[in-house]
Amino acid sequence: MAIASLSAIVAGQFYWVSKAYDLEENKFNDKVKESLTGVVTKILEINRDSSNTKGVKQKATSFFTANINDTPPPFLLETLLKEQFKKHNIQETFEYGIYDCFYDSILYAKRVDYDVKNTDAPLLITRQAEFDADGHYIALFFPNKTQAILRQLTFWVYSSAIIILIIIFFTYVINLLLKQKKLSEVKADFINNMTHELRTPISTIGLSAEALSNPNVLQNEGRLMSYVSIIKNENERLRNQVDRVLQIATLDPKKVTFKHEQLSVHEIIAKAAQTFQVRMDERGGQLSLHLEAQNDAVIGDRLHFTNVIYNLLDNATKYSTNAPVIEISTTCEGNGLVICVKDNGVGIGKQHLNNIFEKFYRVPTGNIHDVRGFGLGLFYVRTIVLAHRGKIKVESELGKGSTFILILNNI
Ligand code: ADP
Repeated sequence: MAIASLSAIVAGQFYWVSKAYDLEENKFNDKVKESLTGVVTKILEINRDSSNTKGVKQKATSFFTANINDTPPPFLLETLLKEQFKKHNIQETFEYGIYDCFYDSILYAKRVDYDVKNTDAPLLITRQAEFDADGHYIALFFPNKTQAILRQLTFWVYSSAIIILIIIFFTYVINLLLKQKKLSEVKADFINNMTHELRTPISTIGLSAEALSNPNVLQNEGRLMSYVSIIKNENERLRNQVDRVLQIATLDPKKVTFKHEQLSVHEIIAKAAQTFQVRMDERGGQLSLHLEAQNDAVIGDRLHFTNVIYNLLDNATKYSTNAPVIEISTTCEGNGLVICVKDNGVGIGKQHLNNIFEKFYRVPTGNIHDVRGFGLGLFYVRTIVLAHRGKIKVESELGKGSTFILILNNI
């Protein structure tokens, strides 16, 4: 709605500005033609010539000619032109020329500049070689005609500038509002996730601690130790989770020192796939590898790179409701190694594709928290890929699955 009304305002303004410009230009042209007619009449009078003065023509936007029967002295012509321009209120810099068909050239040309600073500027009238091959002409050229007309349109120029400023401001505010809205949504989602993720271990620890204060439990060493180990394990899980979130959330590729070792991408993928097989078996899924790239050597950090593959595999399983069917393939394209991780999961809506690599972003699922996560996995993946001067993109269709495509530089 806002965009439609803004476009209407811009279109309206454009229409009126061009109308006003045309009007001013026609006024200017008429004044020039009248002046030229005046000049020619005067010359004819002086020469006691009774021919008519119909030979005034506009040959181009800023170029005018007038037929005469004889070449007038330049000084006379200039005086007459100035006189007529004064009468018609034209105060623009002009160039005039006198053309003689016998010599087939401009006999004389001069610029009359009211602004003394520009007197050295080259003459432009000589480039307007649009002269007919016969007769004598006087020619007029206005090098600054457009500026002169625009000067008459000050109101329109200012009003257009104000409209442009309003539009810039408007776009800025809308952008800011949208960003704020997204940020607050992401924040609310993150707090929700955090609560869900942390609540379970905290309440388990709480319950176990409470049990430990029960005298019956205290006397039974077996039960006591099992509660102690529950507390230990849950505490460990909690710490790991908090550490991971903090580590990734504060990940700054400029501060992390990456190792620069030669890696075999195929080897890393094969190892990650082997480790992942247990998860696949749990879900009754299928993981297949098509490692067809002839050159799989890249320079990078083994640990981070393994994490990248692992994160993508993790997501491919997490975001599929049926038994996951995952395929990892590699190919060579030019100097790049292309790795595709394809799944048959729930897919991602188009409107989210640009956001999923942002920190804390999770595709909104309302209040359902069936898949755990903090929206950090893909942020980490992208950060690492970019740090390796690679690229990452995603293709996805809702309900059909997603393909994450990594392009790395071969050695
Ligand atoms: P999370 O911890 O939520 O998994 P990620 O950064 O890994 O965070 O992913 C961001 C969002 O992108 C997820 O919330 C999910 O909605 C979507 N997503 C990521 N990978 C996939 C996938 N393979 N299939 C469908 N959706 C995915």
